Amino acid sequence: MAVMLAPARRTLPASGAAVFLDKDGTLLQDVPYNVDPARIALAPGAGDGLRMLARTGLPLIVVSNQPGVALGYFQIEALEAVAQRLAELFAQHGATLGGFYFCPHAPLPDGSAGCACRKPHDGLLRQAADSHGVTLEHSWMIGDILNDVEAGRRAGCRTILIANGNETHWLPGPMRVPDYIVGRFDEAAAIVIAQHARHAEAVA
Ligand SMILES: [Mg+2]
Ligand SMILES: [Zn+2]
Repeated sequence: MAVMLAPARRTLPASGAAVFLDKDGTLLQDVPYNVDPARIALAPGAGDGLRMLARTGLPLIVVSNQPGVALGYFQIEALEAVAQRLAELFAQHGATLGGFYFCPHAPLPDGSAGCACRKPHDGLLRQAADSHGVTLEHSWMIGDILNDVEAGRRAGCRTILIANGNETHWLPGPMRVPDYIVGRFDEAAAIVIAQHARHAEAVA
């Protein structure tokens, strides 16, 4: 898919919009249950995509399921180093990590979420929205599986699925239809930029 670049001008996030980003398999190469900063690396296109998103001035907020906490694979404190590494990677690409929200709970034995924060629920997005004054209806959710899409849609956000092969179940449902499907993170960023520029023009 072609990457569309908006003019390099800074628009104020007057809309109260934010961009919510899934972490594993979306921003980062997917290493299951990894909390070792040395093994954290950006996914293809994520560096360029962060640079593009930074130009919008919108808060970039990571929302992540981290069941490894409840499953006893690592302590919750280990996620501080993860957040630190994420912030470094954002900074290396001219972006600012606006927040890191995670669900530390495990799924129920049938695989469904037993809490309100585990995606596909929208608790993390609502928590972040409350803290940052985000208008969810103007915001975006970018993820690599349909649970990310559903979380975004439940919150009222527009959604972009990066169909990079990480979704394997494709469970259907009315909340699981993304607004856009792309192949890489930078293509998702291009869509946000184009739509954001249109919105900025509309309210100017
Ligand atoms: Mg993911
Ligand atoms: Zn939870």
